[in-house]
Parts: sequence; C-alpha cells; structure tokens
Amino acid sequence: MHMDEFALIDAFFKRPVADHRHIDLAVGDDAALFRVDAGHQCVVSSDMLVENRHFFADVAPRALGHKVLAVNLSDLAAMAAQPLGFTLSLGLPSVDEAWLAEFSSGLLTLADEFACPLIGGDTTQSRHLVMNITVFGQVPIGQAVRRDGARAGDDVWVSGTLGDAAYGLNLLHSESQHPDVSAVRMRLEMPTPRVALGLALRGVATSMLDLSDGLAGDLRHILRASNVGTRVDCDALPLSPTLKKLPSEQAWNYALTGGDDYELCFTAPVTVRGELQKLAQLSATPITRVGTIIPIAAVGGAPNIEWHSEHLPEVSACLSAAAGFNHFAGN
Ligand code: ADP
Ligand code: MG
Repeated sequence: MHMDEFALIDAFFKRPVADHRHIDLAVGDDAALFRVDAGHQCVVSSDMLVENRHFFADVAPRALGHKVLAVNLSDLAAMAAQPLGFTLSLGLPSVDEAWLAEFSSGLLTLADEFACPLIGGDTTQSRHLVMNITVFGQVPIGQAVRRDGARAGDDVWVSGTLGDAAYGLNLLHSESQHPDVSAVRMRLEMPTPRVALGLALRGVATSMLDLSDGLAGDLRHILRASNVGTRVDCDALPLSPTLKKLPSEQAWNYALTGGDDYELCFTAPVTVRGELQKLAQLSATPITRVGTIIPIAAVGGAPNIEWHSEHLPEVSACLSAAAGFNHFAGN
C-alpha cells in the first residue's frame, strides 16, 4: 500500500499534545510554537543517527525509536535541563508501515515517560535510513551545569554502571548465544536517560556531561573546559554484576573506553557528599564516587589523568591500548 508523506506523519507521528502547558502548536503547521517559563533559558541539543554507523539495519525498530530520543534526552540531563519537546527528521529508504509503527511506538512511549512531546520534523526519502532529533528544554537562567565548572578538590562521580553497552555490542557481534547477551543488550539498545538525576544536580554539581564515548575520553572534555586534572580510582568504577564476571582488565576496558553508556559524569565539592547520596536516592539513580579533581599539571598540553588501582599494571595495559590515551601516571 502506498502512503504519502502527510498520511505517514498523521498515522505515526501526530499525537495530541494539548495537555502539555509549554506547547502551543505542534505537528501540522509550518512550524511549532512552545514557550519557556519566565526566568528560564532554552536548552537545545541535536543528535543524528545513521544506519550502519550508529545502529544496524536489522535493529528492532522499537528499540531504535527509544534510543534516538534517549541519547538526546541524555544531553539535556547533562545540562540539568527539563525536557519540553523535540523534532524528528527522518530519511527513509521506503515506507514500511510495520517498521514505522514499531519505531514510533518506541519513540513516543519514551516521549510520554518524560513529558517531552514530538512537536514537528521533516520526512524525506533517502537511500539509507537516517534520523535526527533536536530536543528542546529549559533551565533557570544561569543554572545549567556546564563542562567548565570543575575545581581542584571536587569529587568526580558517575551514575549507574559503566561499560555494559560496549560489552553488549561486543557480545552481539561475536557470541550472540552468550548467556549474558540479554542483560547487556538492554543497556545498549534501551539506555535510560538520567533526567531526574540531572535536574536534581542543579546548584550542586560544578560540572557535568553524559558519557557516550567512555569515561577515559569523555572526562577529558571536563578537564579541558575547566583547566584541571584528575585522579581516578579504577577499583571504584561501578560495574554491573555481568561485567564483574569478566577479568578486571577486560571490564575496565569496557568501562573506561566503551561507548553508549549514557550515564552522567559530574563533579561536586567534597562538602556535598551526603546531599548527593540523598539526591541520588530521590531520583532512584545510583551514583558512585570514582575520583578527585586535581590542579592541572604545570607542563604538557593534554589534561592529566592519574589512574590509580591496587592492580595498576592491568589499568596501564588496558588504557595504553585505548585510542587517544597518551598520558599515564601511577601511584
Ligand atoms: P513543510 O513543507 O512546511 O516543511 P512538511 O510537509 O515537511 O512541512 O511537514 C508538515 C508538518 O508535519 C509540519 O508540521 C512538520 O513539522 C511535521 N512533520 C514532518 N515530518 C515529521 C516527522 N517525521 N515527525 C514529526 N512531525 C513531522
Ligand atoms: Mg518539510
């Protein structure tokens, strides 16, 4: 059955959003209208996913719909922003209604969960499946948590557990019958954006980002922006029961250099440790202290990360093997 672009949008992407007080006009006009509350800034983030680069053509469409919005909500979370709405641009090789139904269901279920409605987009035919989401949020003026606020002496924290998605990707590639596939596959395909925790960290965290490329690489963005160094305790890295079964060198490799975790990494003064544990509980998101911010080394261009562990040689081996890693200091 042939379906034109407008019928497709009506069938799969147009939903009533009357109950969302920030949205005045959504899908159907030339543009959408939404408002931010008085005294707030608009927070905008955009992420593109391309077939065979960010996902496989045969990935479950429901999971793909979830993930493409989840990675964008994760960016808002990392700014301590409240989601308001998003647009979706789709390039589709063909109109597969069963696929679209599943995709939009995964997408809009997550959108409902976070009260972040789809307010517009664009749809076109293209050779490969490509999709872009732009998400809009708000934060009280000046309260966004940026990457440039870390100070020497701050603790370094991460949410959840690290490395599961990368291990999941590896298992799906190499050993798809492995008994642990289902446990880590969820972390790869259905990441949970840490929006509640991000919001709770307003005024508490000094810097924050979301982990999409592994802690070892992503932490450098905070270090560079804040002009500081860090000491990380590898033995403290939060690992899931599944990753704990691996040799520690392998688990660290996933936790430090694997991508797609979508956990938050943030810094905060030592004085708020107790408060942070309460905020983590209130937002039902476990957090773990993994390091300390230190003054930037006097010499050298790259920000210094000192990796500490009782099992130092293994940390060294796993990190020197990681791309982009060129600085190492032990205790
Ligand atoms: P225009 O030609 O003015 O760009 P379109 O025909 O592209 O308008 O889109 C018509 C309406 O449908 C617009 O409100 C647009 O935001 C919305 N829309 C188009 N594609 C999508 C999509 N994939 N998801 C949500 N809304 C969409
Ligand atoms: Mg258009």
